[in-house]
Amino acid sequence: MEWKPGGVSDDVEDRRDSGGGGGFGGMGAPHFGIGGILVLLVLSLVFHRNLFTLFSGGSTADRPAYSAPETAAESTEVQFVSFVLDDVQGTWQNLLPAQGSKQYRHAKLVLFRDSIDSACGQAESSTGPFYCPGDEKVYLDLGFFDELKSRFGAPGEFAQAYVIAHEIGHHVQKLLGIEGKVQRLRESNPAQANPLSVGLELQADCFAGVWAKTTEQRKIIDENDVEAGLRAAAAVGDDRLQKMATGHVSPENFTHGSSAQRTRWFQAGLNSGEISACNTFASAQ
Ligand SMILES: [Zn+2]
Repeated sequence: MEWKPGGVSDDVEDRRDSGGGGGFGGMGAPHFGIGGILVLLVLSLVFHRNLFTLFSGGSTADRPAYSAPETAAESTEVQFVSFVLDDVQGTWQNLLPAQGSKQYRHAKLVLFRDSIDSACGQAESSTGPFYCPGDEKVYLDLGFFDELKSRFGAPGEFAQAYVIAHEIGHHVQKLLGIEGKVQRLRESNPAQANPLSVGLELQADCFAGVWAKTTEQRKIIDENDVEAGLRAAAAVGDDRLQKMATGHVSPENFTHGSSAQRTRWFQAGLNSGEISACNTFASAQ
């Protein structure tokens, strides 16, 4: 992929130093009422000890928040994420009014380590990257990129770019009102909840393909990159993930679509460059 490190995007929120620590760190600070604070204050005075530290997982002095220094490789990764994020969002800023008659609104991308609080609840790194419609943010632990390489056999920059483009694809679905509509359908018809989720996932893959088409036109990517993207799409298909986890595949539990479906829809977006080519719901049912 053709890109140059160009600093950190305004849309990146770096929260790698918060949360994920010991004590209450992972759960967020405990909330005391004013009564509790007074009791602690009085007891602290009586015992000549700062008892607040007992409940906050240690004071910052004796237990600093986890903050591993950023390595050069990580810094490059953050700049790469920034480049892709800005490119994907810049693309949708042009495409969405033209193809979807909607204005594009930028999403934020939150970098985190280990665990994070989002408007969609608390998440662990093991959840993988995700988009939260409630706060319109993408959540990403950079460690996932290592996993893409080592566990899912999808190395390469474009595989990483695909992941970001897929998550921004979910943001586009929110802006188009598709996400809200699907949510309502899911609630009114629980039996269809799974195929509806699959439709959402495959459409996000297709939207990633729509972006990829523009990168092809702008000569940012070449054929090898496209292949890496297709491998990434296939690598995170539910059948593959399930097989790795359980040793067998049961289609009724698919929520992301099979590797073949994901590859096919990424390709549909890539070939057409059109939102209208991404009606994954019609064929999912
Ligand atoms: Zn998704």
